[in-house]
Amino acid sequence: MARRSYLNNGNPFYGKKHSMETKEKMKNAWNKRKKKIITEKIANGTLGKRIRPWDNRNKELCREMCRQWKRNNKEKMKVYSLIRRKIIIPKNTLCEICKINLAIDRHHEDYSKPFEVIFVCKRCHNILNIKRIRRKQI
Ligand SMILES: [Zn+2]
Repeated sequence: MARRSYLNNGNPFYGKKHSMETKEKMKNAWNKRKKKIITEKIANGTLGKRIRPWDNRNKELCREMCRQWKRNNKEKMKVYSLIRRKIIIPKNTLCEICKINLAIDRHHEDYSKPFEVIFVCKRCHNILNIKRIRRKQI
């Protein structure tokens, strides 16, 4: 539910409609693409199979990356498991930064204070994390 309204709020086109002409154009373009994709898939023998080439080729690497991240971020993992059930975002809480989108994430300013979190939306959370990475690099 929260995810849906987050999307609606963030989309400037929400609630507006395409003209019939544009709709027809979009349909035709998509049909063309679909035909191409399907013929390619039949040729490759992969029709109806979900494939993620990179993941499949690098299964071991994926697992190793995950393990490594957990090893390097033991503190974060601990904090996360600690607050996961204890701090629940109340329904219809707005993001504390943009005050537009619904809050769906919990952000830690400081991982040494596990219970000091702010409720933010996905977009602001990404921005905050990028800022944190930049600060560390400087
Ligand atoms: Zn926000």
